[in-house]
Amino acid sequence: MANKVAESTSIDSVLHEDRKFECPESFSQQAHIPSLAEYDRIYRESVEEPEKFWGRIAGELHWFKKWDKVLEWNCPWAKWFVGGQINLSYNCLDRHVGTARKNKAAIIWESEPGEVRTLTYQQLHREVQKFANVLKSLGVQKGDRVAIYMGMTPELPVAMLACARIGATHTVVFGGFSSNALVDRIHDSQATTVITQDGSYRRGAEVKLFPAVEEALKSCPSVKNVVIYQRTGSAINTQPGRDHWWHDLMAKASDECPAEPLDAEHPLYILYTSGTTGKPKGLVHTTGGYAVGTYLTTKWVFDLKEEDTYWCTADIGWVTGHSYIVYGPLQNGAAVLMYEGAPNFPEPDRFWDIIDRHKVSILYTAPTAIRTFIKWGDQWPNKHKLDSLRLLGTVGEPINPEAWIWYHETIGHSRCPIVDTWWQTETGNMMLTPIPGAIATKPGSATKPFPGVVAEVVDIEGKPVPAGSGGFLIIRQPWPGMARTIYGDPERYKQQYWSQIPGTYFTGDGARKDKDGYFWVMGRVDDVINVSGHRLSTMEVESALVAHEAVAEAAVVGRPDDVKGQAISAFVTLEQGRKPTNELKEELRKWVAKEIGSLAKPDDIRFTDTLPKTRSGKIMRRLLRELATSGEVKGDTTTLEDFSVLAKLKDSDES
Ligand code: ATP
Ligand code: MG
Repeated sequence: MANKVAESTSIDSVLHEDRKFECPESFSQQAHIPSLAEYDRIYRESVEEPEKFWGRIAGELHWFKKWDKVLEWNCPWAKWFVGGQINLSYNCLDRHVGTARKNKAAIIWESEPGEVRTLTYQQLHREVQKFANVLKSLGVQKGDRVAIYMGMTPELPVAMLACARIGATHTVVFGGFSSNALVDRIHDSQATTVITQDGSYRRGAEVKLFPAVEEALKSCPSVKNVVIYQRTGSAINTQPGRDHWWHDLMAKASDECPAEPLDAEHPLYILYTSGTTGKPKGLVHTTGGYAVGTYLTTKWVFDLKEEDTYWCTADIGWVTGHSYIVYGPLQNGAAVLMYEGAPNFPEPDRFWDIIDRHKVSILYTAPTAIRTFIKWGDQWPNKHKLDSLRLLGTVGEPINPEAWIWYHETIGHSRCPIVDTWWQTETGNMMLTPIPGAIATKPGSATKPFPGVVAEVVDIEGKPVPAGSGGFLIIRQPWPGMARTIYGDPERYKQQYWSQIPGTYFTGDGARKDKDGYFWVMGRVDDVINVSGHRLSTMEVESALVAHEAVAEAAVVGRPDDVKGQAISAFVTLEQGRKPTNELKEELRKWVAKEIGSLAKPDDIRFTDTLPKTRSGKIMRRLLRELATSGEVKGDTTTLEDFSVLAKLKDSDES
């Protein structure tokens, strides 16, 4: 990647989006940060005196021992809250159980078959203490790595919080991954213990989890113990001595386990990136800074209030779930809704049904989900009131303006602000995002940097590019929630993130900043298409396609072209009921030319039912690029969601 990026220059912007949505006054009036002036004031302080700012925020959490120094920065190595001692499980649980939150719902869980289970803060506290004792009884010690391979059940956060409580470093592996992915991650982390379940439910069927663990452990000698939570009750072959039932161990465990005071830099978890652009990287997050970053972003970006029912639809296997289902919301004492299954079970309105029944007030989801809902049709959300919602959020990919508008109108009934939050596994918490009530929104823009974040758009020399021009998105200063390294490979961490433009964090994403100082993320730098010397952003061409009424989703890639350098291949998914005809292809090509210019007109369009995506729902353009270029795919496909997609795409006609 180093060389490839170094060759490239700026990115040309062709998207014209000038809609702007002011903050509803009724929202601003009650918001934590009620005006732009207030945001500006806080932002200024946060970048002029970052240590004072972050020290003050950290003071809102519980510390066993206060830090001696807020930041020690020896680029690229950061230490935050040096000398401080903290425990994240304590901050998520113990800090609340002595208050009126004791009997407040911490987790409201809905299973796919429809069962609802609620754990109050006090109940969750008890479960976590018991499970922490279970881990201790299996010999798990501070610093040991524990792999967690579960479905979306409350026992997953229980397991994470129990690890955090005793200082074991967890590595959650998404339950949809195969046993190979599990082997890689267990090898990489040298985990001694695996926590799993027999199976989970997805679209009405059982997804077996334990058999994948069983298979993986044939080649993972570091693992001494496996704990199995019984969820589905299907028959499994356990190995005596190694495999233990969760319920057996819990029945014997004491419900008192004080949280261990941990060094602020103690490793909390290892988590792998989505694998959108290549083989996943295992990022290490530590305790103190991550606690402060997730705490504050959750509070301000979701404008979280005591009475909210908050729902993030991500899987806990991704960083979004770590930061915004578990650690951020629970530190804030939120009532967190958690759903086990698929959005279209039993019908495509499951999400809207859940929102109405539980009176969800804050919904945080992904553009890929939103585009799918659009494809399924408005009749599904329209069957529901959705009047409990007051704030909507998205994360994971750039959101196309038309999808943003649909989300705003059809789900938010034009009443709810939308927070389009840009961040990464590496950043630990949100970095560019509207703060609702303070920052007016523009569809497709993640708006402004969160306090403490010094973001810029620069050229390859690291010089800021003029307003309106595309370039590399970088972060100039360290922030508390940042990853500290790649597990076992500090050199790669330095090389990949801190060496492109020395002294700054290189995000790998392209962006432009408009004249109002709003950031527009344009997609991956690696995905930029070079047509006749013009560098085009995938996001912009795709957004033009998605703006056509027949198109549900689009992915564009460059393939070599003798004349233009690269030609544009577009892969397009149609709205339900639309026919994939040659006339439509021509219409779409003309449409793009009209919308954003003939330069961006796709050279070929292929219709497809689905696009290749990561398990977290991100479009894997690198696979499409290989396919469009050579007809073959050789790159890493371990995080690909559905392998049959590639075969189908190979068969799809090219014209
Ligand atoms: P890999 O690093 O393995 O290629 P990944 O980058 O997809 O995978 P994540 O850390 O899950 O792994 O995703 C972060 C990336 O997702 C960002 O770098 C950006 O490209 C994209 N992204 C996330 N949120 C947004 C957003 N709100 N707007 C635009 N892009 C976003
Ligand atoms: Mg990435």
